[in-house]
Amino acid sequence: MLIVMRLDSPKEDIERVKNKIINESCSPHEIPGASKLAIGITGPTHKLNEEDYQLLPSVEEVVRVTKKYKLVSRMMKNEDTLIDVNGDIIGGKELTIIAGPCSVENRDQAFTIAESLAKMGVKFFRAGAFKPRSSPYSFQGLKEKGLQILNDIKHEFDLRIVTEVMNQNTVSQVAEVADILQIGARNMHNFAMLDEVGRLNKPILLKRGMSATVEELLLSAEYILSHDNYNVLLCERGIRTFETSTRNTLDLNAVPVIKKHSHLPIIVDPSHGIGIWDKVPAMALAGIAAGADGLMVEVHHKPEEAISDGFQSLTPQSFEMLINKIKQIAPIVDKELCLN
Ligand code: PEP
Ligand code: MN
Repeated sequence: MLIVMRLDSPKEDIERVKNKIINESCSPHEIPGASKLAIGITGPTHKLNEEDYQLLPSVEEVVRVTKKYKLVSRMMKNEDTLIDVNGDIIGGKELTIIAGPCSVENRDQAFTIAESLAKMGVKFFRAGAFKPRSSPYSFQGLKEKGLQILNDIKHEFDLRIVTEVMNQNTVSQVAEVADILQIGARNMHNFAMLDEVGRLNKPILLKRGMSATVEELLLSAEYILSHDNYNVLLCERGIRTFETSTRNTLDLNAVPVIKKHSHLPIIVDPSHGIGIWDKVPAMALAGIAAGADGLMVEVHHKPEEAISDGFQSLTPQSFEMLINKIKQIAPIVDKELCLN
């Protein structure tokens, strides 16, 4: 349920509504908006009587939200969510570029790639220190050492760091370095960890599970918002289908569908989506054309030597060619490319 109040509602009217919600064993969530003040209600809302709320001072409207997800929906908040990452905005008019290798392999590798990306004006550097791998015998990431390298890169090149958190125990450790914490496809259903990152005051990049529906992705985001962390960035990274000619099937349908139902920004990861480096640029451009708020692309200076995901990684040179094309396409979709 959603209580819509006047933007200039006196504090005591807002408190009265919130207290009533709490007294009825539900949770109030103040949702920032430009023209109205909205208070979303989660919990056993079927027990609430709409008319009781309608009669309270400063209340303009009481709306039943019929979807399973509530706080992420446009019914709760119509305006696009803008995520402020230390002064850089994601969402709205901005077209955000996140790039970097799949994994931090060593200091030289990560620094070389970060330097070339920073020179191109990229503001967000991605690289995994903790790596979820299908085989327990594959490289699992440099872990703490990888985080240390990312921290050094952050200060050396003034880059924002995007890196994956794989379990609840390491959330605070990763949050010390990451400007955006990535929840990988395999962890989209790790509800205990979603609860944990919901309590952080840091942006979260939530990747779609490989067999998850759009609704399930939005429900996972709802876990994070339900703890009042509204800084969630969704990511379409391809789903598993019967098709075997590509690594995954990049479901670009998800982009306009999510845009319609949710106020959260959504980016596209064409690298995992198609899994073949020379086809990544086509799908990156398609993602932007579909209305995405940005891209996350894997870039490696020596893809043939990469420890993970080299086959889907662009070289800095081919990535720069892609950036030049993105510069041309951004104005067509009414976006401004966010580069230094
Ligand atoms: C990654 O971004 O390197 C990654 C492991 O992605 P996903 O969780 O989408 O497989
Ligand atoms: Mn990868």
